Amino acid sequence: MSSSFLPFTRPAIDEETIAAVTAVLRSGWLTSGPKVLAFEAALSQYCGGRPVRVFNSGTAALEIALRLGKVGAGDTVITTPLTWVATANVILEVGATPIFVDVDPATRNLDLDQIEAAIQPTTRAIIPVDLAGLPVDRQHLHALAKRHGLRVIEDAAQSFGASWAGQPIGTSFGEGRDFVAFSFHANKNLTSGEGGALVLPDDVDPGLCERLRLQGVRRLADGGMEVDVLGGKFNLTDIAAVIGLGQLKHLPEFTERRRALARRYFEWIDPGLGLELPAADFVNSNWHMFQVLLPAGADRGEFIAAMKTHGVGIGVHYPALHLFSLYRRLGWKDGDFPVAEDIGRRTVSLPLFPAMQESDVDRVCHALHEILPEVSR
Ligand SMILES: *Cc1c(COP(=O)(O)O)cnc(C)c1O
Repeated sequence: MSSSFLPFTRPAIDEETIAAVTAVLRSGWLTSGPKVLAFEAALSQYCGGRPVRVFNSGTAALEIALRLGKVGAGDTVITTPLTWVATANVILEVGATPIFVDVDPATRNLDLDQIEAAIQPTTRAIIPVDLAGLPVDRQHLHALAKRHGLRVIEDAAQSFGASWAGQPIGTSFGEGRDFVAFSFHANKNLTSGEGGALVLPDDVDPGLCERLRLQGVRRLADGGMEVDVLGGKFNLTDIAAVIGLGQLKHLPEFTERRRALARRYFEWIDPGLGLELPAADFVNSNWHMFQVLLPAGADRGEFIAAMKTHGVGIGVHYPALHLFSLYRRLGWKDGDFPVAEDIGRRTVSLPLFPAMQESDVDRVCHALHEILPEVSR
């Protein structure tokens, strides 16, 4: 595929999965049913036996985690400004207020050393994000949360398949009191088209989680129903669940392949180009993305356009979210989080997905070599 356009990511769906989707379509049962239960059971097994419930998005999983954690109006939640905007939007959605803490330039994740100073009497929870699949230091994070009585909701949307201290992300690092939210959006390392999952703490009722997921409805033994809590419409279809199940079989091989391709980028990117490379973690990270920071003087728009003419797709993940107009209207401004802002202005995601070939990495590196001197000044 070296002469065709190389997208920055592309899902890998096998023929068995396509056949499984067809079988669901022929079965007469399309919405949440036996395949959702099977997907939840498989995810639970992956997460060390913890209870897992699936949703129609990772955003829904995060929002339900906040509701189950009783976070609402008047509360504050600590998170990073360098993430997909969903992470902060859900905090606003439940009526709470985000407290952003700047990122560590080495990991581009929440700077854990700055969290303590940001905690307020209203603070209920921390939502750390494993950006690009590089996990936040779990021991440090959970010790800090425990000391201050804060609930941790791990936004692991990008880190399914990653690990910390030899333990998969999704297993508990917080003595069973932590939530872990995954996304199965089409671009994530494991996809169900759209979808998400939430790993539940020991002190949360999975039945309540199910009711919040679907209109608050509780089925009664006599065939009737009762509604005593306000739920939304967040359930996953069986069609999506079989896609997720089909992907799960390949997870170790997907992660290995991403790591190998990331290593090749490290070997091939010429240090003279002035790019800032990501943390070289080949133990914990699932290499969801390969993100480099352009040299300070480079024009990102020109760079992306020039790479496109060389047949290479480039992503941007993400501009610092407190500078979006919605968040500016709420009071945040330029200069509030200088490290996240600088990364947000210079970051680009190079192509990285399991079906990529070594020759594709080489092609990207050659294009970088030609283009970077032209767009830098
Ligand atoms: C993808 C993503 C989400 C949201 O997941 P959806 O399934 O798209 O709703 C949340 N947080 C982060 C960091 C993400 O990358």
